Amino acid sequence: MRELSVVKNGAVAIKDGRIVACGPTARVERETLAEKTLDVSGKIVMPGFVDPHTHPVFVGTREQELTTKIEGKSYMEILRSGGGILRSVRETRRATKQQLLEATLGHIREMLLQGTTTIEVKSGYGLTPRDEIKSLEVARELERHVPVSVVPTFLGAHAIPQEYAGKPEDYVTLIVEEMIPEIAGRKLAKFCDVFCEQGVFSGEQSKRILQAAKVLGLKLKVHADEFSDTGGAALAAELGATSADHLLKSSPENLRKLANAGGIGVVLPGAPLTLLIDDRPDARGMIEMGLPVAIGTDFSPSCWMPSQQLPIGLACNMLRITPAEAITATTVNAAFAVEMQNEVGSIVPGKHADMLILDAPNHQHLGYRLGVNLVERVIKDGNVVVEDGRIVSS
Ligand SMILES: [Zn+2]
Repeated sequence: MRELSVVKNGAVAIKDGRIVACGPTARVERETLAEKTLDVSGKIVMPGFVDPHTHPVFVGTREQELTTKIEGKSYMEILRSGGGILRSVRETRRATKQQLLEATLGHIREMLLQGTTTIEVKSGYGLTPRDEIKSLEVARELERHVPVSVVPTFLGAHAIPQEYAGKPEDYVTLIVEEMIPEIAGRKLAKFCDVFCEQGVFSGEQSKRILQAAKVLGLKLKVHADEFSDTGGAALAAELGATSADHLLKSSPENLRKLANAGGIGVVLPGAPLTLLIDDRPDARGMIEMGLPVAIGTDFSPSCWMPSQQLPIGLACNMLRITPAEAITATTVNAAFAVEMQNEVGSIVPGKHADMLILDAPNHQHLGYRLGVNLVERVIKDGNVVVEDGRIVSS
């Protein structure tokens, strides 16, 4: 993860939205004949960020909960009193599909302006067949309005909706028998995810949901061991999930199982930060044991963090991840975490020409300069789509 293959005095040739050559400028110029060139002397050219874990399909904001959290209420207490996810669920259910699309586009545009060109997008604020499908239809629409690639994930198992309080098994049955068959049948999602956690979905319930999804061709992700060691990472390993995410409380033994099963550990430094909890994922330990780490924002109404540059800074300064490792974790490893590794995540011939021009002399400025948007231009499929802090194309 520390090997970035930095090319000094390099060039990239693009044709029809794909990279056709890259390497030292003299060689690329010998191999290709450019019709149009973009001089980015003195800048960094790097792959567009891939954000492997976001929850952007919601309406409304929850800024008042920050004060509640500071005053000492935990996430689970807020959830039990009908706030948190459940508040966003009420607002998202009330919204029309058009209102939900507009709100979500606002979130996606914030991400693009900060350099994210491929985004995993979860549902999970509908929690009825109608509203989960509405959310995934919105996710599918996004690419038509903003120049990003979207990877949709079904997260009907995000919370137990209030109308199923005390009867979680009935809600699991609704997910398994109604939601998953329709979503898989209409190919509305690539992944199925579950919030496997004490007081949310148990290991058994999570397994039931994920197995049903797997049988119908969906790939798997798990919100694993965020507040307690519920065995989420082990479950992800057992079912062959693509990734297990959060991993704050996972035992080293279960992380090793995930590594042996070929899974990716998705680390979300913004989550404990915005939950005001002191636990940190042991990303350093994961890398040392050979578990590939990807980093995401966990963008959501409780973690308004659209930029992958901030989690990079947090990972470097709080988790002892080097800038090079954090760049790998937000580009090519993140592409593996959403099974887009053959399409995006690195600058190699054949992949989408999704790239960032950073106003920085070397890559270590990512992680070092905190709270600064270093992205000067964003190139998506060969077109400049962000320039001077504005989206210039769609
Ligand atoms: Zn999440």
